[in-house]
Amino acid sequence: MEFKLTENQRMIADMVRDFGAKNIKPKMREWDDTQEFPVEVFKQLGELGLMGVLVPTEYGGSGFSYLEYVTAIAELSKIDGSIGLSMAAHNSLCTGHILQFGNEEQKKKYLPKLATAEWIGAWGLTEPNTGSDAGNMRTVAVQDGDHWVINGAKNFITHGKSGNVAVVIVRTGEVGDSHGMTAFVIEKGTEGFSAGRKEDKLGMRASETTELIFQDCRVHKDQILGNVGEGFIQAMKVLDGGRISIAALSLGIAQGAFEAALAYSQERSQFNKPISSFQGIAFKLADMATEVEAASLLTYQAADMKNRGLNVNKESAMAKLYASEVSVRVANEAVQIFGGYGFTKDYPAEKYYRDAKLCTIGEGTSEIQKLVISRAILK
Ligand SMILES: Cc1cc2nc3c(=O)[nH]c(=O)nc-3n(C[C@H](O)[C@H](O)[C@H](O)COP(=O)(O)OP(=O)(O)OC[C@H]3O[C@@H](n4cnc5c(N)ncnc54)[C@H](O)[C@@H]3O)c2cc1C
Repeated sequence: MEFKLTENQRMIADMVRDFGAKNIKPKMREWDDTQEFPVEVFKQLGELGLMGVLVPTEYGGSGFSYLEYVTAIAELSKIDGSIGLSMAAHNSLCTGHILQFGNEEQKKKYLPKLATAEWIGAWGLTEPNTGSDAGNMRTVAVQDGDHWVINGAKNFITHGKSGNVAVVIVRTGEVGDSHGMTAFVIEKGTEGFSAGRKEDKLGMRASETTELIFQDCRVHKDQILGNVGEGFIQAMKVLDGGRISIAALSLGIAQGAFEAALAYSQERSQFNKPISSFQGIAFKLADMATEVEAASLLTYQAADMKNRGLNVNKESAMAKLYASEVSVRVANEAVQIFGGYGFTKDYPAEKYYRDAKLCTIGEGTSEIQKLVISRAILK
């Protein structure tokens, strides 16, 4: 077992740190205040090869493995979780779905555009009434000759408005039948396909989250990914990989919050001593450091297994569950260590605290991760 970063991982970590210092840090507060989705940052990340990290070079991607992918997301999220979230959603969900289940023609058509961020990708599974229970979805596609006509709505969709293309999973069979759903790839501008309301969020505010609306939206059967009836099973497989990226996102936020709190605890004095000299604070830092390390091990273990082609259903859920809960705990303690200043926007702790919470919800809540893990260990 190797516990050190590879040359590629070190190179990516350095590159992301430099990029973030120049292009993200100076503007992230403004994006957070105004909920601006900074498309130009993602175009730049595309130039760096970070919008098609796992896409093979023959389709215009970087052809890296999950190890480099985790490192890139974690480093980005140490700086700004919402940029990490959008990068993860673009890579793992929309691009990842086409990469895993698209035919050769679909891969050639979409992957080069997505991998370079010429196009931004969205992925729609969730609906207003079916989040955790996604298999119960009501958005429906009805066949009409060589076309399918889609009606309904998806919500909480990352890049729902700014995305140039979306992979959406809709019902094509009976409610309650896991083989009754199909994935379609749909381009922006298709008649009957539009973005709805943009959410006003607690955190991750620079990552755009909107509704997708389908009103008699006609799509050709060539837009189906894989076969009719495979959409839900495909989505679950996409999420197995996606959860590693949310674990990486959680890890980055936790590392960022920890490093900020560690530095502050050595600068801030009370009772004529740095607050880090008080055992009450030092023990918090010890717990935070230990939990961050454990989250990192689970996340890289899942990434390594994924690289080796193993089933990561349980391990990605464990990594996502643990790292996301650690992210919330560590960000909470970071605010505490900053004291009153942690409650203000002059210091980074409050943003980590707000952003971290999404990690226990997106791509399956902590409760749903426990469902996945318990099913795997009880079978
Ligand atoms: C910022 C953001 C970005 C997102 N991006 C996307 C995206 O790009 N694409 C997409 O498709 N979706 C996206 N989502 C949706 C996200 O995946 C869902 O919010 C999540 O799956 C939870 O669904 P829900 O919000 O409907 O909550 P619900 O399913 O209604 O859950 C409410 C509560 O009930 C609990 N619960 C539900 N079922 C069970 C159970 N069986 N046992 C125990 N507890 C249970 C949940 O854990 C939770 O605590 C995004 C969400 C957010 C907030």
